[in-house]
Amino acid sequence: MTRDDHARLAFATRQLHAGDRTPGPHRPRATPIYLTAGFEFDDFDQAHARFAGTEEGFSYTRVGNPTNVAAEERIADLESGVGALLLGSGQAAVATTVLALVSAGDHVLASSSIYEGTRELLRDDLARQGVAVDFIGDPNDAAAWDAAVRPTTRLLFAESIPNPKNDVLDVAAIAAVAHRHGVPLVVDNTLATPYLLRPLEHGADIVVHSASKFLAGHGTVLGGVIVDGGTFAWADHPDAYPQLARQRGLDGLTFAERSPRTAFLDFARRVAMRYGPVPSPLNAFLIIQGIETLSLRVARQSATALQLATWLERQPGVESVDYSGLPSSPHHAVAARYLPLGQGSVFAVTIRGGREAARIFTDALRLFTRMTHLGDVRSLVLHPATTTHVLRDEGQLAAGGIGQGLLRLSIGLEEPEDLIADLDRALAAVAAADLLSTVGAS
Ligand SMILES: *Cc1c(COP(=O)(O)O)cnc(C)c1O
Repeated sequence: MTRDDHARLAFATRQLHAGDRTPGPHRPRATPIYLTAGFEFDDFDQAHARFAGTEEGFSYTRVGNPTNVAAEERIADLESGVGALLLGSGQAAVATTVLALVSAGDHVLASSSIYEGTRELLRDDLARQGVAVDFIGDPNDAAAWDAAVRPTTRLLFAESIPNPKNDVLDVAAIAAVAHRHGVPLVVDNTLATPYLLRPLEHGADIVVHSASKFLAGHGTVLGGVIVDGGTFAWADHPDAYPQLARQRGLDGLTFAERSPRTAFLDFARRVAMRYGPVPSPLNAFLIIQGIETLSLRVARQSATALQLATWLERQPGVESVDYSGLPSSPHHAVAARYLPLGQGSVFAVTIRGGREAARIFTDALRLFTRMTHLGDVRSLVLHPATTTHVLRDEGQLAAGGIGQGLLRLSIGLEEPEDLIADLDRALAAVAAADLLSTVGAS
Protein backbone atom coordinates (compact mmCIF):
# COMPACT_ATOMS: atom_id res chain seq x y z
CA MET A 1 0.00 0.00 0.00
CA THR A 2 1.43 3.39 -0.96
CA ARG A 3 1.45 6.43 1.32
CA ASP A 4 -1.27 8.05 -0.80
CA ASP A 5 -3.52 4.99 -0.61
CA HIS A 6 -2.99 5.06 3.10
CA ALA A 7 -3.85 8.76 3.42
CA ARG A 8 -7.25 8.04 1.89
CA LEU A 9 -8.18 5.49 4.54
CA ALA A 10 -10.68 6.49 7.21
CA PHE A 11 -9.69 7.22 10.81
CA ALA A 12 -11.16 3.96 12.12
CA THR A 13 -9.03 2.00 9.64
CA ARG A 14 -5.85 3.96 10.26
CA GLN A 15 -6.12 3.57 14.04
CA LEU A 16 -5.63 -0.17 13.37
CA HIS A 17 -3.09 -0.09 10.55
CA ALA A 18 -0.97 3.09 10.67
CA GLY A 19 2.63 2.39 11.65
CA ASP A 20 1.83 -1.30 11.56
CA ARG A 21 4.90 -3.42 10.96
CA THR A 22 5.39 -7.17 11.05
CA PRO A 23 9.16 -7.53 11.06
CA GLY A 24 11.20 -10.66 11.55
CA PRO A 25 10.83 -14.26 10.41
CA HIS A 26 7.81 -15.09 12.61
CA ARG A 27 5.45 -12.42 11.21
CA PRO A 28 3.58 -11.64 14.46
CA ARG A 29 0.30 -9.83 13.69
CA ALA A 30 0.36 -7.68 16.84
CA THR A 31 3.21 -5.22 17.41
CA PRO A 32 5.92 -7.12 19.32
CA ILE A 33 7.10 -5.74 22.67
CA TYR A 34 10.85 -5.20 22.31
CA LEU A 35 11.59 -5.31 26.02
CA THR A 36 15.31 -4.80 25.75
CA ALA A 37 17.66 -2.13 27.02
CA GLY A 38 19.89 -2.28 23.97
CA PHE A 39 20.41 -3.68 20.47
CA GLU A 40 23.44 -5.64 19.24
CA PHE A 41 25.91 -4.13 16.82
CA ASP A 42 27.11 -6.48 14.06
CA ASP A 43 30.66 -5.20 14.37
CA PHE A 44 32.98 -2.39 15.45
CA ASP A 45 32.16 -0.18 12.46
CA GLN A 46 28.39 -0.50 12.88
CA ALA A 47 28.65 0.64 16.50
CA HIS A 48 30.44 3.77 15.30
CA ALA A 49 27.94 4.36 12.47
CA ARG A 50 24.96 4.15 14.84
CA PHE A 51 26.53 6.68 17.24
CA ALA A 52 27.69 9.00 14.47
CA GLY A 53 24.19 8.91 12.96
CA THR A 54 25.44 7.82 9.54
CA GLU A 55 23.44 4.57 9.67
CA GLU A 56 19.78 4.14 10.66
CA GLY A 57 19.10 1.60 13.37
CA PHE A 58 18.58 1.11 17.07
CA SER A 59 21.26 1.22 19.74
CA TYR A 60 19.76 1.85 23.18
CA THR A 61 16.10 2.14 24.24
CA ARG A 62 16.52 5.63 25.70
CA VAL A 63 17.39 6.75 22.15
CA GLY A 64 14.80 4.64 20.33
CA ASN A 65 12.93 1.33 20.40
CA PRO A 66 10.88 -0.41 17.66
CA THR A 67 7.73 -0.75 19.80
CA ASN A 68 7.92 2.93 20.75
CA VAL A 69 8.43 3.87 17.09
CA ALA A 70 5.33 1.89 16.09
CA ALA A 71 3.28 3.92 18.61
CA GLU A 72 4.86 7.16 17.36
CA GLU A 73 4.03 6.42 13.72
CA ARG A 74 0.44 5.55 14.50
CA ILE A 75 -0.19 8.68 16.59
CA ALA A 76 1.56 10.95 14.06
CA ASP A 77 -0.68 9.55 11.34
CA LEU A 78 -3.89 10.03 13.33
CA GLU A 79 -2.95 13.62 14.28
CA SER A 80 -1.95 14.51 10.66
CA GLY A 81 1.62 15.22 11.80
CA VAL A 82 4.96 14.48 10.14
CA GLY A 83 6.27 12.56 13.14
CA ALA A 84 5.86 11.94 16.84
CA LEU A 85 7.92 11.29 19.95
CA LEU A 86 6.62 8.95 22.66
CA LEU A 87 7.52 9.80 26.26
CA GLY A 88 6.98 8.40 29.72
CA SER A 89 4.03 10.64 30.66
CA GLY A 90 2.00 13.61 29.51
CA GLN A 91 4.02 15.87 31.79
CA ALA A 92 7.19 14.58 30.13
CA ALA A 93 5.72 15.51 26.74
CA VAL A 94 4.86 19.04 27.88
CA ALA A 95 8.20 19.56 29.65
CA THR A 96 10.24 18.20 26.72
CA THR A 97 8.35 20.41 24.25
CA VAL A 98 8.97 23.55 26.29
CA LEU A 99 12.61 22.65 27.04
CA ALA A 100 13.24 22.13 23.33
CA LEU A 101 11.92 25.61 22.48
CA VAL A 102 13.16 27.89 25.28
CA SER A 103 16.50 29.06 26.66
CA ALA A 104 17.13 31.03 29.86
CA GLY A 105 15.76 34.56 29.43
CA ASP A 106 12.94 33.44 27.12
CA HIS A 107 9.21 33.78 27.71
CA VAL A 108 6.23 31.45 27.40
CA LEU A 109 2.66 32.60 26.93
CA ALA A 110 0.02 30.14 28.10
CA SER A 111 -3.71 29.97 28.52
CA SER A 112 -4.68 29.86 32.19
CA SER A 113 -7.27 27.18 31.31
CA ILE A 114 -4.75 24.35 31.32
CA TYR A 115 -3.98 21.22 33.27
CA GLU A 116 -2.91 22.28 36.75
CA GLY A 117 0.35 20.28 36.58
CA THR A 118 1.33 22.15 33.42
CA ARG A 119 0.43 25.50 34.99
CA GLU A 120 2.62 24.72 38.01
CA LEU A 121 5.49 23.47 35.79
CA LEU A 122 5.47 26.71 33.80
CA ARG A 123 4.99 28.99 36.79
CA ASP A 124 7.32 27.43 39.37
CA ASP A 125 9.81 25.08 37.77
CA LEU A 126 10.58 26.89 34.53
CA ALA A 127 10.77 30.20 36.40
CA ARG A 128 13.64 28.68 38.39
CA GLN A 129 15.45 28.02 35.08
CA GLY A 130 15.08 31.68 34.08
CA VAL A 131 12.07 31.25 31.80
CA ALA A 132 9.27 33.78 32.32
CA VAL A 133 5.61 32.94 31.82
CA ASP A 134 2.38 34.89 31.49
CA PHE A 135 -1.12 33.44 31.53
CA ILE A 136 -4.08 34.55 29.41
CA GLY A 137 -7.36 34.45 31.35
CA ASP A 138 -9.70 33.88 28.39
CA PRO A 139 -8.02 31.49 25.93
CA ASN A 140 -10.14 32.78 23.03
CA ASP A 141 -9.31 36.46 23.58
CA ALA A 142 -7.00 36.85 20.55
CA ALA A 143 -6.31 40.51 21.39
CA ALA A 144 -5.12 39.55 24.89
CA TRP A 145 -2.67 36.98 23.45
CA ASP A 146 -1.52 39.52 20.88
CA ALA A 147 -0.86 42.22 23.48
CA ALA A 148 1.04 39.85 25.80
CA VAL A 149 3.58 38.53 23.25
CA ARG A 150 7.13 39.79 23.99
CA PRO A 151 10.22 39.78 21.74
CA THR A 152 11.45 36.84 23.88
CA THR A 153 8.23 34.78 23.57
CA ARG A 154 9.07 31.35 22.14
CA LEU A 155 5.73 29.56 22.21
CA LEU A 156 2.02 29.96 22.80
CA PHE A 157 0.48 27.09 24.79
CA ALA A 158 -3.20 26.15 25.16
CA GLU A 159 -5.49 23.14 25.45
CA SER A 160 -8.13 22.21 22.87
CA ILE A 161 -10.68 21.13 25.53
CA PRO A 162 -9.64 22.44 28.96
CA ASN A 163 -10.99 20.79 32.08
CA PRO A 164 -13.04 21.31 34.13
CA LYS A 165 -14.69 24.32 32.42
CA ASN A 166 -14.80 23.05 28.80
CA ASP A 167 -13.80 26.45 27.34
CA VAL A 168 -13.01 25.01 23.89
CA LEU A 169 -10.10 26.67 22.05
CA ASP A 170 -10.55 28.58 18.79
CA VAL A 171 -7.37 26.97 17.43
CA ALA A 172 -7.26 28.88 14.12
CA ALA A 173 -7.67 32.30 15.79
CA ILE A 174 -4.87 31.74 18.32
CA ALA A 175 -2.61 30.09 15.69
CA ALA A 176 -3.01 33.26 13.60
CA VAL A 177 -1.79 35.39 16.52
CA ALA A 178 1.19 33.08 17.08
CA HIS A 179 2.20 33.14 13.41
CA ARG A 180 1.89 36.92 13.18
CA HIS A 181 4.62 37.04 15.85
CA GLY A 182 6.72 34.23 14.34
CA VAL A 183 6.18 31.75 17.18
CA PRO A 184 4.57 28.29 17.18
CA LEU A 185 1.26 27.38 18.83
CA VAL A 186 1.47 24.25 20.98
CA VAL A 187 -1.87 22.56 21.76
CA ASP A 188 -2.45 19.93 24.43
CA ASN A 189 -5.08 17.76 22.70
CA THR A 190 -5.50 15.17 25.48
CA LEU A 191 -9.23 15.59 26.10
CA ALA A 192 -10.26 15.89 22.44
CA THR A 193 -8.08 13.07 21.05
CA PRO A 194 -7.31 13.10 17.30
CA TYR A 195 -10.67 11.43 16.69
CA LEU A 196 -12.62 14.54 17.73
CA LEU A 197 -10.12 17.24 16.75
CA ARG A 198 -6.79 17.51 14.92
CA PRO A 199 -5.35 20.91 15.92
CA LEU A 200 -2.57 20.67 13.27
CA GLU A 201 -5.28 20.84 10.58
CA HIS A 202 -6.44 24.17 12.07
CA GLY A 203 -3.05 25.87 12.19
CA ALA A 204 -1.43 24.60 15.40
CA ASP A 205 2.26 23.71 14.96
CA ILE A 206 2.85 21.13 17.69
CA VAL A 207 0.41 18.84 19.53
CA VAL A 208 1.05 17.17 22.87
CA HIS A 209 -0.94 14.48 24.68
CA SER A 210 -1.14 12.66 27.91
CA ALA A 211 -1.42 9.18 26.36
CA SER A 212 -2.31 7.99 29.89
CA LYS A 213 -5.86 9.16 29.22
CA PHE A 214 -7.92 8.32 26.11
CA LEU A 215 -5.11 6.99 23.89
CA ALA A 216 -4.20 4.16 26.28
CA GLY A 217 -7.82 4.38 27.38
CA HIS A 218 -8.02 1.72 30.05
CA GLY A 219 -6.38 3.40 33.04
CA THR A 220 -3.42 1.04 33.07
CA VAL A 221 -0.29 2.92 31.95
CA LEU A 222 1.19 6.40 31.71
CA GLY A 223 2.52 7.84 28.49
CA GLY A 224 2.91 11.10 26.63
CA VAL A 225 3.45 12.12 23.05
CA ILE A 226 4.64 15.12 21.05
CA VAL A 227 3.44 15.43 17.44
CA ASP A 228 5.19 17.77 15.01
CA GLY A 229 3.06 19.41 12.31
CA GLY A 230 6.17 20.02 10.23
CA THR A 231 5.03 23.41 8.94
CA PHE A 232 6.78 25.96 11.18
CA ALA A 233 9.70 27.71 9.38
CA TRP A 234 12.39 27.53 12.07
CA ALA A 235 15.07 28.59 9.59
CA ASP A 236 13.41 32.00 9.34
CA HIS A 237 14.00 32.65 13.06
CA PRO A 238 17.64 31.80 13.89
CA ASP A 239 17.85 34.43 16.66
CA ALA A 240 14.80 33.04 18.44
CA TYR A 241 15.67 29.35 18.00
CA PRO A 242 19.47 29.12 17.67
CA GLN A 243 19.35 25.47 18.82
CA LEU A 244 17.34 24.67 15.65
CA ALA A 245 18.57 27.20 13.13
CA ARG A 246 22.07 28.35 14.06
CA GLN A 247 24.07 25.71 15.94
CA ARG A 248 25.72 23.22 13.60
CA GLY A 249 26.30 19.51 14.10
CA LEU A 250 29.22 17.28 13.07
CA ASP A 251 27.93 17.32 9.49
CA GLY A 252 28.06 21.14 9.41
CA LEU A 253 24.25 21.44 9.24
CA THR A 254 21.65 22.93 11.59
CA PHE A 255 18.60 20.85 12.60
CA ALA A 256 16.49 23.04 10.30
CA GLU A 257 18.84 22.43 7.35
CA ARG A 258 19.18 18.70 7.97
CA SER A 259 15.44 18.07 8.04
CA PRO A 260 13.27 21.19 7.65
CA ARG A 261 10.00 19.32 8.28
CA THR A 262 11.04 17.44 11.42
CA ALA A 263 13.67 19.81 12.83
CA PHE A 264 11.71 20.46 16.03
CA LEU A 265 10.89 16.79 16.57
CA ASP A 266 14.50 15.70 15.95
CA PHE A 267 15.72 18.26 18.46
CA ALA A 268 13.01 17.26 20.99
CA ARG A 269 14.19 13.66 20.58
CA ARG A 270 17.68 14.80 21.56
CA VAL A 271 16.33 16.72 24.56
CA ALA A 272 14.45 13.59 25.66
CA MET A 273 17.54 11.45 25.15
CA ARG A 274 19.53 13.80 27.39
CA TYR A 275 16.92 14.32 30.14
CA GLY A 276 15.72 10.71 29.89
CA PRO A 277 11.90 10.63 30.36
CA VAL A 278 11.52 7.58 28.12
CA PRO A 279 8.55 5.19 28.08
CA SER A 280 8.77 1.44 28.60
CA PRO A 281 8.14 -0.51 25.37
CA LEU A 282 5.54 -2.45 27.37
CA ASN A 283 3.64 0.80 27.92
CA ALA A 284 4.04 1.68 24.24
CA PHE A 285 2.40 -1.65 23.37
CA LEU A 286 -0.54 -0.95 25.70
CA ILE A 287 -0.94 2.53 24.19
CA ILE A 288 -0.98 1.03 20.66
CA GLN A 289 -3.58 -1.51 21.77
CA GLY A 290 -5.70 1.27 23.29
CA ILE A 291 -5.55 3.35 20.11
CA GLU A 292 -7.00 0.46 18.09
CA THR A 293 -10.43 1.15 19.65
CA LEU A 294 -10.05 4.92 20.12
CA SER A 295 -12.82 6.12 17.79
CA LEU A 296 -15.32 3.60 19.16
CA ARG A 297 -14.65 4.51 22.76
CA VAL A 298 -14.53 8.28 22.28
CA ALA A 299 -17.71 8.40 20.17
CA ARG A 300 -19.63 6.38 22.74
CA GLN A 301 -18.16 8.24 25.74
CA SER A 302 -19.03 11.60 24.16
CA ALA A 303 -22.59 10.52 23.39
CA THR A 304 -23.08 9.29 26.97
CA ALA A 305 -21.53 12.49 28.36
CA LEU A 306 -24.03 14.60 26.42
CA GLN A 307 -26.90 12.44 27.68
CA LEU A 308 -25.72 12.75 31.30
CA ALA A 309 -24.96 16.48 31.08
CA THR A 310 -28.45 17.09 29.62
CA TRP A 311 -30.04 15.07 32.43
CA LEU A 312 -27.96 16.71 35.17
CA GLU A 313 -28.81 20.22 33.97
CA ARG A 314 -32.50 19.51 34.62
CA GLN A 315 -32.07 18.34 38.23
CA PRO A 316 -33.09 20.77 41.00
CA GLY A 317 -30.03 19.84 43.10
CA VAL A 318 -27.70 20.95 40.29
CA GLU A 319 -26.59 24.56 40.08
CA SER A 320 -24.84 24.36 36.70
CA VAL A 321 -23.18 22.06 34.20
CA ASP A 322 -20.07 23.09 32.22
CA TYR A 323 -20.20 21.05 29.02
CA SER A 324 -19.62 22.56 25.60
CA GLY A 325 -22.08 20.08 24.08
CA LEU A 326 -24.97 21.81 25.88
CA PRO A 327 -26.70 24.74 24.12
CA SER A 328 -26.51 26.60 27.47
CA SER A 329 -22.69 26.59 27.36
CA PRO A 330 -21.01 29.87 26.38
CA HIS A 331 -18.56 27.67 24.44
CA HIS A 332 -21.23 25.81 22.45
CA ALA A 333 -20.67 27.77 19.21
CA VAL A 334 -16.90 27.17 19.18
CA ALA A 335 -17.53 23.50 20.01
CA ALA A 336 -20.00 23.23 17.13
CA ARG A 337 -17.26 24.46 14.78
CA TYR A 338 -14.38 22.36 16.08
CA LEU A 339 -16.03 19.28 17.61
CA PRO A 340 -18.83 18.12 15.27
CA LEU A 341 -18.25 14.42 16.12
CA GLY A 342 -18.72 14.93 19.86
CA GLN A 343 -17.59 17.30 22.58
CA GLY A 344 -15.63 14.85 24.69
CA SER A 345 -16.53 13.11 27.92
CA VAL A 346 -14.94 15.20 30.69
CA PHE A 347 -17.11 17.94 32.15
CA ALA A 348 -18.02 19.68 35.39
CA VAL A 349 -21.22 19.69 37.42
CA THR A 350 -21.77 22.10 40.31
CA ILE A 351 -23.95 20.71 43.07
CA ARG A 352 -26.06 23.14 45.12
CA GLY A 353 -24.81 23.35 48.71
CA GLY A 354 -21.07 23.97 48.29
CA ARG A 355 -18.29 21.74 49.55
CA GLU A 356 -20.45 19.74 51.98
CA ALA A 357 -22.89 18.88 49.19
CA ALA A 358 -19.97 17.86 46.95
CA ARG A 359 -18.70 15.60 49.74
CA ILE A 360 -22.06 13.88 50.31
CA PHE A 361 -22.63 13.53 46.55
CA THR A 362 -19.16 12.05 45.93
CA ASP A 363 -19.34 9.58 48.79
CA ALA A 364 -22.86 8.40 47.81
CA LEU A 365 -21.74 7.35 44.31
CA ARG A 366 -21.28 3.60 43.86
CA LEU A 367 -20.53 3.20 40.16
CA PHE A 368 -18.38 6.30 39.57
CA THR A 369 -14.84 5.75 40.86
CA ARG A 370 -13.29 8.43 43.10
CA MET A 371 -9.99 8.87 41.32
CA THR A 372 -7.66 11.47 39.80
CA HIS A 373 -7.59 10.38 36.18
CA LEU A 374 -9.70 10.78 33.09
CA GLY A 375 -10.35 9.12 29.77
CA ASP A 376 -10.71 5.74 31.45
CA VAL A 377 -13.26 3.15 30.25
CA ARG A 378 -14.77 3.50 33.75
CA SER A 379 -16.55 6.65 34.91
CA LEU A 380 -14.61 8.77 37.40
CA VAL A 381 -15.35 11.64 39.78
CA LEU A 382 -13.05 14.20 41.45
CA HIS A 383 -13.45 17.43 43.48
CA PRO A 384 -10.90 19.84 41.92
CA ALA A 385 -10.98 22.49 44.69
CA THR A 386 -9.63 20.03 47.29
CA THR A 387 -7.42 17.90 44.99
CA THR A 388 -5.91 18.99 41.65
CA HIS A 389 -6.38 22.70 42.47
CA VAL A 390 -5.57 22.47 46.18
CA LEU A 391 -2.61 24.87 45.81
CA ARG A 392 -4.94 27.66 44.63
CA ASP A 393 -6.42 30.14 47.11
CA GLU A 394 -10.10 31.13 47.05
CA GLY A 395 -9.47 34.07 44.71
CA GLN A 396 -7.60 31.93 42.17
CA LEU A 397 -10.28 29.24 42.37
CA ALA A 398 -12.96 31.84 41.73
CA ALA A 399 -10.97 33.27 38.79
CA GLY A 400 -10.90 29.77 37.29
CA GLY A 401 -14.62 29.31 37.90
CA ILE A 402 -13.93 26.42 40.24
CA GLY A 403 -16.45 26.57 43.07
CA GLN A 404 -16.60 24.40 46.18
CA GLY A 405 -19.63 22.54 44.79
CA LEU A 406 -17.94 21.74 41.47
CA LEU A 407 -17.12 18.13 40.58
CA ARG A 408 -15.27 16.88 37.53
CA LEU A 409 -16.77 13.85 35.84
CA SER A 410 -15.01 11.65 33.27
CA ILE A 411 -17.59 9.47 31.57
CA GLY A 412 -16.71 5.89 30.73
CA LEU A 413 -18.32 3.09 28.74
CA GLU A 414 -20.96 1.93 31.24
CA GLU A 415 -24.64 1.83 30.22
CA PRO A 416 -25.91 5.45 30.46
CA GLU A 417 -29.02 4.42 32.46
CA ASP A 418 -26.83 2.84 35.15
CA LEU A 419 -24.75 6.01 35.42
CA ILE A 420 -27.87 8.19 35.65
CA ALA A 421 -29.22 5.96 38.44
CA ASP A 422 -25.92 6.42 40.30
CA LEU A 423 -26.01 10.23 39.90
CA ASP A 424 -29.67 10.23 40.93
CA ARG A 425 -28.82 8.31 44.11
CA ALA A 426 -26.07 10.82 44.93
CA LEU A 427 -28.36 13.82 44.37
CA ALA A 428 -30.98 12.17 46.60
CA ALA A 429 -28.36 11.77 49.34
CA VAL A 430 -27.57 15.50 49.14
CA ALA A 431 -31.27 16.39 49.23
CA ALA A 432 -31.80 14.11 52.26
CA ALA A 433 -29.03 15.93 54.14
CA ASP A 434 -31.12 19.09 53.77
CA LEU A 435 -28.01 21.33 53.65
CA LEU A 436 -29.71 24.30 52.13
CA SER A 437 -32.05 24.90 55.07
CA THR A 438 -29.49 24.20 57.81
CA VAL A 439 -26.25 25.60 56.40
CA GLY A 440 -27.54 27.93 53.74
CA ALA A 441 -26.59 27.82 50.09
CA SER A 442 -22.97 28.62 49.37
C1 LIG B 1 -3.23 14.19 32.63
C2 LIG B 1 -2.92 15.35 31.79
C3 LIG B 1 -1.59 15.79 31.63
C4 LIG B 1 -0.44 15.11 32.32
O1 LIG B 1 -0.30 13.81 31.83
P1 LIG B 1 0.35 12.60 32.70
O2 LIG B 1 0.33 11.49 31.73
O3 LIG B 1 -0.49 12.42 33.90
O4 LIG B 1 1.75 13.05 33.04
C5 LIG B 1 -1.36 16.87 30.80
N1 LIG B 1 -2.37 17.51 30.18
C6 LIG B 1 -3.66 17.12 30.34
C7 LIG B 1 -4.73 17.87 29.64
C8 LIG B 1 -3.97 16.04 31.14
O5 LIG B 1 -5.24 15.67 31.30
